[in-house]
Amino acid sequence: MIESLNIPKPDDFHVHLRQGSLLKLVTPFTAAHFSRALVMPNTEPPILTARDAVNYAAELRSASPQGMNFQPLTTIKLTKLTTNVSVENAAAVGVLAAKFYPQGMTTNASDGPVNLHDLQPGVLDAMQESDLVLCVHAEAVGVFCLDREIAFLPELDEYVRVFPRLRIVLEHLSTRGAVEAVEGWPANVAATVTPHHLVLTLDDLIGSELHPHSFCKPVPKTLDDQRALIRAVTSGKPKFFLGTDSAPHWRTAKEESGAAGIFNAPVALQVLAQVFEDAGALGRLGDFVAAFGADFYRLPRNRDRIELVRRSVRIPNDYEGIVPLWAGREARWSLTGQTPLQ
Ligand SMILES: [Zn+2]
Repeated sequence: MIESLNIPKPDDFHVHLRQGSLLKLVTPFTAAHFSRALVMPNTEPPILTARDAVNYAAELRSASPQGMNFQPLTTIKLTKLTTNVSVENAAAVGVLAAKFYPQGMTTNASDGPVNLHDLQPGVLDAMQESDLVLCVHAEAVGVFCLDREIAFLPELDEYVRVFPRLRIVLEHLSTRGAVEAVEGWPANVAATVTPHHLVLTLDDLIGSELHPHSFCKPVPKTLDDQRALIRAVTSGKPKFFLGTDSAPHWRTAKEESGAAGIFNAPVALQVLAQVFEDAGALGRLGDFVAAFGADFYRLPRNRDRIELVRRSVRIPNDYEGIVPLWAGREARWSLTGQTPLQ
């Protein structure tokens, strides 16, 4: 039995670090376990331009613990007002990706385009030419909630054919159909998978009492979908890599207003180690969390390393008002060294 696992320090290619006091509280958790993190732009106000991204990167760096080798990577949010010039300017200051949120599909997305056709002409061409990655929240507007991801795939298929050099990431896959679509598309289309979609189904959310801390978008779906996601991430296929979609909300926002999003930054790697071990694929964890994403984003692989050890720990119920994934549960693996607040 493997007792410890030494892997390159992972990257998180989809995380919400928010703003203000929440940003200051959660950023150290991501910085502790990840070398780099692609930070999503659906803040309030949102990150729309090169200037916004530069300012946000400075705020993120100032919230990162001193001496920790952590690099936040920035994105901009695509709206109906985004132009090819805003894309080119963003690429020029080092923004790596632009995020497409269909209108109303998640936190702070009420200003989103309804679909990709709703973007201004020339925006996707400029992204392709500037080598900016298109990150897609792949859910169709106006469709029954469990069918939204599948309903979005035909639209994306059209764009995959029209923009053969545009790198596209389907974010937070939640269905077998999306896994199979990504497998079928060319190598310029990849996907992130979250820890929570690997361990939750709709039963965890509404199977007994309503559990708001398991609520996220897209909602966790069937056991069959969950098995397809586990198979995808443990397959060793480079198209699938980690994006935690760690999305903190204060406990009150989750319990009183039903905010969508799961905070998993402090526990993501422990949860993943357990999932990969149960699938007999512990040896593939390092590639999923630290290699395939870096390769897709054309970043050098990390040299720092972390060590996971087989040592049961109880996940805290709460981190200063934010409830994590697996709150109060035993995890079989833990990380050597200390994480903030533990
Ligand atoms: Zn997200």
